[in-house]
Amino acid sequence: MSIDYQSLAVRGVQALSPYQPGKPIDELARELGLDPADIIKLASNENPLGPSEKALAAAREALSELCLYPDGNGFDLKQALAARFGVDMSQITLGNGSNDVLEVITRCFADVESEVVFSQYAFAVYPLVTQAIGAKGVPVPAKDWGHDLDAMAAAVTDRTKLVFVANPNNPTGTVHNAEAILAFLERIPERVVVVLDEAYCEYLQGEGYADGVELLSRFPNLIVCRTFSKAWGLAALRVGYSISSPEIADILNRVRQPFNVDTIALAAATAVLEDEAYVQRSRKVNVSGMAQLEAGFGELGLSFIPSAGNFIAVDVGDDAMGVYQSLLEQGVIVRPIAGYGMPRHLRVSIGLERENAKLLKALSNALGLSGQGA
Ligand SMILES: *Cc1c(COP(=O)(O)O)cnc(C)c1O
Repeated sequence: MSIDYQSLAVRGVQALSPYQPGKPIDELARELGLDPADIIKLASNENPLGPSEKALAAAREALSELCLYPDGNGFDLKQALAARFGVDMSQITLGNGSNDVLEVITRCFADVESEVVFSQYAFAVYPLVTQAIGAKGVPVPAKDWGHDLDAMAAAVTDRTKLVFVANPNNPTGTVHNAEAILAFLERIPERVVVVLDEAYCEYLQGEGYADGVELLSRFPNLIVCRTFSKAWGLAALRVGYSISSPEIADILNRVRQPFNVDTIALAAATAVLEDEAYVQRSRKVNVSGMAQLEAGFGELGLSFIPSAGNFIAVDVGDDAMGVYQSLLEQGVIVRPIAGYGMPRHLRVSIGLERENAKLLKALSNALGLSGQGA
């Protein structure tokens, strides 16, 4: 008699569907017999500029240390981050991507007795890690695609251990200003840990946006998570971090794997922090690419959700999967987000000018709009 291993997995895991990443370029090339060079990927909010030269040089130099374990304390990177943000090194927790930090936080503060609050349409990792540890996820209906912060505060119960807020949120691109975040934090009891996920904070332009790090001294229950995967252009290396009170960092440090960030990642991330020109270029390309896509969607008669991130969710109608498939066949990879409960939208990462143009052309073809002029 064979064993049903499904039934051996803990309950949360049995019912779990894996995170669906964007389709890799090589996979599409294999599937459709296309030349990888003819394919563009606007599916994972990656930086279209390619990596920073400074990061690349540091990564190359670090190769000579491959036989040694990494610095498990990440001293150089923590020191650079602490200097940049005016915090103490003891407040920083490094992760294998901020994904890793999000998971460690959940495992540290929630268990099968707990409730974890997050928004409808919020980043998929929050419900995923919540369910994996057997805690109860409490999704709160969104308002205008964004987090309904009042409703989220109201959803906190005696069992709530953790609240996740993505600001800006992925995949909707919605964002709350400093005032709204402050008012929200004031409503959350101090015994509830609030995770402010600021994976896209570097793209925020102008005044009035919340900076989680500035709020840490007022809210000891706050954890701010950030990443090197987006504006810093190091998605492949998997480096992220949180900034919190030293007490919370000490707790996270007990659970994280001792060598969760590798030597090359540490070196490249430390180096890229000195490449201010790179992150400024990232911002600039994002602003112009966002304008290009918004204008292009407008010409195609498509509505979209205004985004503060490096991506935009566009409503392509009832047959979003058909449009997605047609885009694939034209060598353009974007991200379907039906899994987020957004079956009419596709999420498009902001690319270089020619990539955005290719996407718009392919989208026009997919929608059967070509030849209509404009
Ligand atoms: C991309 C993203 C992350 C970061 O992922 P990494 O693991 O650091 O690559 C975290 N939160 C949100 C909302 C994201 O979109």
